[in-house]
Amino acid sequence: MYLSSCLLVLFLAYFLNIITISVGYHRALAHDAIHLHPSLRRIVVWLGPLITGLDPKAWVVMHRMHHAYSDTEKDPHSPKNAGFLGIMTEQLRSYKAVAIGLIKKDSEVTQFAKNLDYDLHILTRKNLWYLPYVLHALLAVIPGVLGGFWLLGLCYFLGMMSHPIQGGLVNAFGHAVGSRNFNTEDDSRNNWLVAFFVLGEGLQNNHHKFPQSAKFSYHQWEPDPGFTVCLILESIGLLTIERKGLIPAPPPFNLEVRPALPNHTAPSM
Ligand SMILES: [Zn+2]
Ligand SMILES: [Zn+2]
Repeated sequence: MYLSSCLLVLFLAYFLNIITISVGYHRALAHDAIHLHPSLRRIVVWLGPLITGLDPKAWVVMHRMHHAYSDTEKDPHSPKNAGFLGIMTEQLRSYKAVAIGLIKKDSEVTQFAKNLDYDLHILTRKNLWYLPYVLHALLAVIPGVLGGFWLLGLCYFLGMMSHPIQGGLVNAFGHAVGSRNFNTEDDSRNNWLVAFFVLGEGLQNNHHKFPQSAKFSYHQWEPDPGFTVCLILESIGLLTIERKGLIPAPPPFNLEVRPALPNHTAPSM
């Protein structure tokens, strides 16, 4: 019972984190593939850093740079430059560089923020980026101190602050290991396993071909739980999917009936 409670807390914390990044930061703020209800948008912009540990403006700008320079020398996180194992530190280093670039109004960086109508979060501007990590660490310690439920607290913390792992999996596997539906100029791949665990984000090849699509899956069997979340949130009025930009459906299978082979008659002896 205790172990299942820990796993449930891990799942819920992880889900809250990844849903904020994949649906809020990525599909809505970075690509305008969905339009959040104004109240939900305010929550994502103002509370997003507390939930995820990531500034929505810095994250969006870094992500747009990734699309603009995908797998070239200027890509902020490509396994081609950083190596498969170095991607996790590379993405954190790039994120910090982008935040500093935005603060210093470096045009190389600000050009990707032109249509963003919100500023860097106060935690980033005041160099208090670490506060969400401290906050979640304190919340995680409470069940341990009060009742000895240390594993529960650890699961909570790991789920809430899981973004370096999610991002590392997507950015490494999604640009190195997997299939390709489309010939793009980058090395993007569709990695189904990462897509399953990271709300469809592993379908990088589909996403790089159709970045304005809220739906990342192309074939029916490609897992995109993030788009299912979008459909559910749309059904209760919390967002609207931009249907014009949706990835097109694949052509139907060719069921053409081949002409019957001519009957062969046995040669007469
Ligand atoms: Zn990518
Ligand atoms: Zn994107």
